[in-house]
Amino acid sequence: MLLLPDLLDLVLPQQCAGCAQPAALLCPACRTWLDGLQPARTEPDPFPPGLPRTCASGSYDGVLRALLLSHKERGRLALARPLGALLAGAVSALGAGEVVLVPVPSAAAAVRARGHDHALRLARSAAAAAGLRAAPLLVPARRVADQSGLSSAGRAANLAGALRVRRPLSGLPVVVVDDVVTTGATLVEAARALREGGARVRGAAVVAATRRR
Ligand SMILES: [Zn+2]
Repeated sequence: MLLLPDLLDLVLPQQCAGCAQPAALLCPACRTWLDGLQPARTEPDPFPPGLPRTCASGSYDGVLRALLLSHKERGRLALARPLGALLAGAVSALGAGEVVLVPVPSAAAAVRARGHDHALRLARSAAAAAGLRAAPLLVPARRVADQSGLSSAGRAANLAGALRVRRPLSGLPVVVVDDVVTTGATLVEAARALREGGARVRGAAVVAATRRR
C-alpha cells in the first residue's frame, strides 16, 4: 500500500531534473547553467535539403537532455517553463520578428501514451515568454514508422508527406518549433507542409541539437 508521503514523492519528485541532486525542480547550479546557454545557428550534417534556418539553445546531452526527457517522457510538466524560455531564446536568435510558433505534431498514440503533447506545451510556454502566439497548425497526414534506427535518407523517405496544415495559411509568418533536432528530417517535412499550406516559414527553433557522433 502506498502512503501519502510516497504518493507525494511520486507526484512531486524532490530531485533536480537536470542532475538528481535534492531540489524541487532544478537545483541552483543547473538553473545557472541554463541561464548561461547562448542560442546559436545549428546545421545537421549532412544538411537536409529544404531545412529552414534553425537555431538551438544547446546540445542534446547532459543536463539539457535530462530535462527534455524528464519533460517529455516522465511528465515533469513544470519543466515546460524553463525549457520554453530556452526555446523562446532560440526563436529570438532567428530574428524573425512577429511570427506564430508552430509545434511539430506528435502521433496521437504517442500523445496518449505520454499523457501530454510535449512540443505543443513547449511552444505555448515559449510563446508566452516571447510575447508571441503558438498554434498547432500542423497535423499528421498519415502514419509513419518509428524513426529510431533509420538513416538520414531513411528518415526523410519515411516522413515525406507525413504532415499537413489544418487550414490554408495565406501568407502567415511562422517558425517551426520542436524539442530536439537530429537529422532535421522532421523540421524539413514540417516546413514543407507549412509552405504548401501557404505559410511563410521564417525558420525553425529547437531547445537542443543532437551533436554528430
Ligand atoms: Zn541540478
